Order: sequence, then structure tokens, then C-alpha cells
Amino acid sequence: MLQDQDRIFTNLYGMKDRSLKGAQARGLWDNTGGILANGRDWIIQQVKDSGLRGRGGAGFPTGLKWSFMPKETDGRPSYLVINADESEPATCKDREIMRHDPHHLVEGALIASFAMGAHAAYIYIRGEYIREREALQTAINEAYDAGLIGDNACGSGWKFDLYLTHGAGAYICGEETALLESLEGKKGMPRMKPPFPAGAGLYGCPTTVNNVESISVVPTIIRRGAEWFSSFGRPNNVGTKLMALTGHVNTPCVFEEQMGLSVREIIEKHGGGVRGGWDNLKAIIPGGASCPVLPKDKLEDAIFDFDWMRANQSSFGTGCMIIMDQNTDVVKAVWRLAKFFKHESCGQCTPCREGTGWMSRVMDRLVTGEAEVEEIDMLLSVTKQVEGHTICALGDAAAWPIQGLVRHFRGEIEDRIKKQKTGRSASILMPKAS
Ligand code: SF4
Repeated sequence: MLQDQDRIFTNLYGMKDRSLKGAQARGLWDNTGGILANGRDWIIQQVKDSGLRGRGGAGFPTGLKWSFMPKETDGRPSYLVINADESEPATCKDREIMRHDPHHLVEGALIASFAMGAHAAYIYIRGEYIREREALQTAINEAYDAGLIGDNACGSGWKFDLYLTHGAGAYICGEETALLESLEGKKGMPRMKPPFPAGAGLYGCPTTVNNVESISVVPTIIRRGAEWFSSFGRPNNVGTKLMALTGHVNTPCVFEEQMGLSVREIIEKHGGGVRGGWDNLKAIIPGGASCPVLPKDKLEDAIFDFDWMRANQSSFGTGCMIIMDQNTDVVKAVWRLAKFFKHESCGQCTPCREGTGWMSRVMDRLVTGEAEVEEIDMLLSVTKQVEGHTICALGDAAAWPIQGLVRHFRGEIEDRIKKQKTGRSASILMPKAS
């Protein structure tokens, strides 16, 4: 279990002063100029050595991503863009950083931008995060006023500007290239890749897009050392991480914990246990709506990290877990997610536009049992035709929850269909389909 002295986020619950003065008292902005004086390559190597993997869901190594940025400019500026869109259902961890400890992000933005040769960084924050935006803008203003960012950031001679802009509520703008389009003032639609943002990103210039938490942990990693950070967790799955528990636990919460603990330890330590006890657990969705559901029988020895979840046909995602107890209608839960992804598809590519609608309509029938058993395999086959055949990962995100449902709860779907046919169906309260 993570000890208090090893927590990166020491004001996660907003009990202390979030202003610059308070942040400095907690160790932030301490000799940041000295960190920059070590040079770009040194900083990137530290982040590589720490083993930090992106905290936004994909888990790509952060230092490696930074190293894709050009070392020498060809005349175009480089940019850091910070993804604060946080729209994945059940995910609300970055919000706590921005509203209670925003200087982690502001200082991290300076160090990361310097490491990538960027004189400007943009934070794209979810439109609904109004108070978070206010807190973050106040922190940015404080940093400018104190000379920590601006024309001569921390006295380093490095010019650095940080801009905060907000979205308007579209989930797809959390996809990095849709985010860049939106930032440029266009409709938030994902771009074809390649080119990747490191070659041609914001305004056609080299750009790295990172999650809020990935940037916010950098100052502490550098101060405490890559070895300290990598000492937590299992190889390739290291460090501390903001996680969340929501759904049927006794105490839903956001917390910082070390990687490598078991799912059960995390639920029991931080969530106060499953409602009704561990044996009342039915399933979890590990890290956001797009991660395939895992049933209880898979979770006895489950490790809550990237590699375990991947090896077990799910995903660690954002580390924000949905817990479902035995009372949960898991078919209905996935039906609701199918509706969500259909609604949030940008409609640009055919497999996603048509496939999400098709999957959602079949789920309408499966959830009431008014379907044929053969439709389960037809649905599965559609998910395979969508998965991997779209411009962005929303197609996969829509396919995976349904695949997880069929993989682990096929019996429940079939029973429902059979009961409906024999007139023994329990009434299932359904909101009106839209
Ligand atoms: Fe748009 Fe869906 Fe295609 Fe992504 S996969 S570009 S959301 S239509």
C-alpha cells in the first residue's frame, strides 16, 4: 500500500491551500529553473527511466512519446497539448488535480514543454469543468505573475506560454486528433493517421498530446528520481496512479495508489468493500466505459494494472473502475454504453457510424429478450467488423463492451431470450429507447 510520504498529489481532496503559496509549501516550483538547466535530453531520459506510461488510457510510454518530437526545428514551432477533456464515463480523476492541486499541471507543462522544445502549451479542458477551469486559470495567472512561466520562465531564459481553452461537451474531442481539430476551431473529427501529431499536429506543427495526470506527475518524478517512481508496481506497470471506484462499493472515491495491487485489495481498502460483501460482486468494468467487463470469477487474483488487464482481454484504461454487484442487470448496463457510443460517434467513417447504430439496435432487443439466440453471434460478428476498421479508437471502444458481455455473460442473454419466448420473463424496466 502506498505510504503518505510517497503520494504525489498531497491536496487531492482540497483540504489545503491550492494557491501558489500552498503549492510551494508542498514542494512544487522548488528550483524548477535548476531542473531545466539539466537540458532537454536529461529530462526526457528521466521520464523514460521512470517507466511512466500515459495515464489517459492507452498506456503508451510517456518519455518515448516525447522523444518522437524533433530535436532541431525546421522553422515550425513545436507544441505540447494537454488533454483535459476527461469524458470517459466513470472517469473523474484529472478533475481532482485541476480543481485542488493545479500547480502540478502548470509546472509539469513547463518542464514537459521545455523537454520537447515547445515554447507554448495548450490545455484543452472539458466544457462542463467550469470550476476546474477557473482554478486552473488562477494557477496559470499566479505562475505568470511570479515569473515562473512567461518570457523568462523560472529565470531559465526559456520563453513559455500556457493557454487554457475549453471544449463544448463532445466525447470524441478527447481523441487526440479530434481535440487538435477542435483546438483549431474546426468540428471535432478525428484525423487519419499518419501523419502522427509529432510530425504534423496542431496547425500542422510537431505536437505531443498528453493526459493531465501524465504531465502533472513529472515534476515530482524528477525531484524524487526515476528509481523512486519505478520502485512501485511490477515491471512495465510502475509508479503511483490516480484511480477511482464508482458503482456498488460502500465508499466511492478517487485516490492515489501504487500500481500492482490486486483488484480486491483496492476495492476493499479504498471502496470499503463491495456493497453486500465480496461474494456479492458480479463484475467490474476496469478503467472506463470502453474496457470490456470482467466477471467475478476472473477477479479473485486479478492485478489492477495494464498488463494483467490486457492479458485477460480487458484494459486498465484510466484506472477508474465501475463495480457491479449481483443486483446489476449487466446486459442493460452494456446496452446503455452501446447507446452512449452510438450517440458520440462523429459519423465520419462508415463502420463506426453504421456499426454503432446497428449494435445499439440489437442491444435494444437483447436487453428485453425480444430477439433470437442467433442474433448474439450476429452481434459479435458486427463488433469484429467495426473493431480495427475505423479512423479512431471509438469504433473499438464501442465494440469491446459488447464483446466482453457476450464472452462472459452469454448465458444471461440467452436465458432472457428463452424466458421471453416462454412468457416467463421478469419485467425489465426499460427507459424509452431513443
Ligand atoms: Fe468518427 Fe467513429 Fe470514425 Fe472515430 S471511429 S472517426 S468517432 S466515425
